[in-house]
Amino acid sequence: MSTLTDTNKMNVRVRFAPSPTGRLHVGGARTAIYNWAFARATGGDFILRIEDTDPERSTEENVQVILNAMKWLGLDWDEGPEVGGASGPYFQTQRMDTYTAALELMKERGSVYPCFCTKEELDVKRAQAEATEGGYSGYDRTCRNLDPAEAAARIEAGEPHVWRLRVPENHGPIEFDDAVYGHVSFPAEVMDDMIVVRTDGSPTYNFAVVCDDANMGITHVIRGDDHLSNTPRQILIYEALGFDVPTFAHLSMILGPDGKKLSKRHGAASVEEFAERGYLPDAMVNFLALLGWSLDGETTLIDRETLCHEFSLERVTKKDAVFDETKLDWMNGQYIKDMGAAAWVQASLPWLFELGATADDVAARPEFYLGLYPLVAERLQRLDEIPGKLAFMFWGPEVRELDEKSVNKVLKKEGARADEALVACRSILADESRAWEAKSLEEACRALGEELELKPKLLFQPLRVAVCGNMVSPPLFESIELLPREDVLARIDYVTKEVFGG
Ligand code: GLU
Repeated sequence: MSTLTDTNKMNVRVRFAPSPTGRLHVGGARTAIYNWAFARATGGDFILRIEDTDPERSTEENVQVILNAMKWLGLDWDEGPEVGGASGPYFQTQRMDTYTAALELMKERGSVYPCFCTKEELDVKRAQAEATEGGYSGYDRTCRNLDPAEAAARIEAGEPHVWRLRVPENHGPIEFDDAVYGHVSFPAEVMDDMIVVRTDGSPTYNFAVVCDDANMGITHVIRGDDHLSNTPRQILIYEALGFDVPTFAHLSMILGPDGKKLSKRHGAASVEEFAERGYLPDAMVNFLALLGWSLDGETTLIDRETLCHEFSLERVTKKDAVFDETKLDWMNGQYIKDMGAAAWVQASLPWLFELGATADDVAARPEFYLGLYPLVAERLQRLDEIPGKLAFMFWGPEVRELDEKSVNKVLKKEGARADEALVACRSILADESRAWEAKSLEEACRALGEELELKPKLLFQPLRVAVCGNMVSPPLFESIELLPREDVLARIDYVTKEVFGG
């Protein structure tokens, strides 16, 4: 059996093998990230294999959803759909001949036998067994010792049958060294003579996975621990085929804050939903990577390059990980703060479009859009907060939303001289000889305020409410600088008239 220390010498090949039955859940995304990072850190290959054998639930559309989620996360695969590779095809439905060949091999090795028991017969036996004290302990092996000639004749006669694994007598415990769980041992006696090929010729899940992993040369199987109980069964199939058993690494569950397995009940659970809520791929990858792995036990911001360099299975814990959305929000905010204006504009387009931006306008006025970034770079945790924070930058000459509380607290406040403040600021902003530049506009307003004995707060808050519609906004003069002078003046005039009737 291969061991972890071999990773220096061997060509690591890992795979992510989603069933395209829905969106990519964060648990699956973490599994994908670990496989990808492990391949990158070891100079190995990352393979994407689509396990689409469930015809009811696997759809073309779901395949696309998963590929899109992988691309969005920036997890590139070396072999798989769209990129091909030497061990393809990468859809299980296109690999049926390989399962047939593997079955033939097992027949030759005497490690499978045909079973003609009907579903009705099996149901009756199961019910009878369940009624006894010992309970049901798997198939009673009726067909295991059929005379081979009789079995062959029944097959020849077209009698429906499945193929079952002949679990060896006296096998001894099925043991493996899991890279995360450590030494694991299952008693072989309780192993059912499981079906590997169904009546219709289709492979069962455990059989198909083993055939694929073996044929694709997978060295490490990194997957969720919901598959831990499949592993001893799969090991028996490897043995039945005479193939090397890969190293397994089972990943713990991801729990919601209430200690229950993370699901839709906890809010967003799929990669697509997190994308729609304005999380950045880099932040998602960083956050999900830390759900069960750590660089050094303390570093929280870990970029892709570091992850791809430093990831190791030794630092994956078997403790369940808790999905802490507050931490994700914080982390996303850090990535937004550091991403730079151009990347921010690109990533923010869906939300900017909500505000009335168009692709043409973004192309025509890049400085305006790039200029929005410093206004909010340190104020956003998610990109879907953009409409709430930047709507006023898209109002043109209008004040589309004048917050009542701000009007009462700032503009109508007794003795605050807000009307005077607006007149003063307007006079500065209307002076066309002055550069339309944040710093000089602010300084000029401040100087005039001093002359009028208006404290900065009493001077600037009315202006803020007039221009932004609210007493809370991004930096005022930096915002004003990005707006046309006539729009700013029109807003001041409108609010002055609304509130003071002047
Ligand atoms: N297709 C399986 C799933 O989506 C994964 C199988 C595996 O990783 O072995 O759960």
